Amino acid sequence: MRRPTRFALVTGALLSALAPLTAAAELAIDFIDIGQGDATYIHADGHHVLIDGGRSRHDVADYLRAHGVSHLDLMVATHPHADHIGGQIGVLQRKSVGEIWYSGYEHPTQTFEAWLDAALDSNARYREPTRGHDQQFGEMHLTLLHPGVETPNRSVHDRNLVVRIDRGPCSAIIAGDIEANGEREIIASGIDVRADVLELGHHGSRTSTSAEWLDAVAPQIAVAQYGAGNRYGHPHASVVERVAAAGVPLLGTGAHGSIRMRCGADGLWRVDTERRGTVTPGDRARDSAAAVP
Ligand SMILES: [Zn+2]
Repeated sequence: MRRPTRFALVTGALLSALAPLTAAAELAIDFIDIGQGDATYIHADGHHVLIDGGRSRHDVADYLRAHGVSHLDLMVATHPHADHIGGQIGVLQRKSVGEIWYSGYEHPTQTFEAWLDAALDSNARYREPTRGHDQQFGEMHLTLLHPGVETPNRSVHDRNLVVRIDRGPCSAIIAGDIEANGEREIIASGIDVRADVLELGHHGSRTSTSAEWLDAVAPQIAVAQYGAGNRYGHPHASVVERVAAAGVPLLGTGAHGSIRMRCGADGLWRVDTERRGTVTPGDRARDSAAAVP
C-alpha cells in the first residue's frame, strides 16, 4: 500500500544562491543542475556531504562557495565517469574534505587519474566502504547500499556506490549510475530500501529503475539528474512512464534546474525548484521524428 504523500511542491520559486540555508533540524538535499551529470549536495546539523560533482571542474565548487560551504565532512564518488567525478577535482583542490568514499574501481582515464591525484593531495581520509556501512553526521545517517563485498568487478556501473540518507522520519536514496543488476543485488540483500525520495539511476536511463526496484523503494518523489537536450536521450520514455504509472511525481534537473528539497521533524518534504517545468522523455522526440515517413 502506498504511503500518503507528504510533500509540498513549490515550483518556479526563484532560487537565490544567497538565500538562507537550511533552518535547524532539517535534512536538506540539493540536486544541482550541472547539465548532463550528477551532483548532489546534502546537509544537516552543520554537516555537509557531496555525492558526485558533475563534469565541469568548477561548477560545483562555485555552487558550494556561493552557499558559504568551505568544508565537506564527506565526499562520495559513485563511480569514475567524468560526468560524476570531474567537478570533484575542483572541490578537492579548493575545499577541505574530511573523508572520501569510493569503490576502488580502477579506471584508465585522464579524469580519473586527475581525481586520484587531487584525492591523494588532499588531507581527506580515504575509505572503500561496502554494503551496510553506516556513518552518523549529527542526526543524519548515511548507509551504503551498494556495492556489497560479494559484488563482482564486472562493470563500472555495477560497482557504483548507492547511498541511503536518513534523518528522523525523512529518507532518500542517491543511486548514481546503478543499473538493474545492482538494483537486484541490493533488493536480494534484504537491506532496507524503502525511502521517500529516489534519485533515478543513470540519469533516468532504461538500463536502470527496474519495476522491482521502484516497487521496493516505493518513493513519494523521484528525481532524475540530466542535461536538457542531452545526446543520450535521458531520461528514457520507458522509465518516465514506469514512474508515472506508479503515481510518483518526477522532477528533473533538465526540466526544473536545480532542485532543493527540505524535510524536518514533521516528515514533510518541501521542494523548491529553480524553474517550472515538466520532465519529458529525451528519446521521445527522436523516436517520433523517426516514425515520420
Ligand atoms: Zn552518469
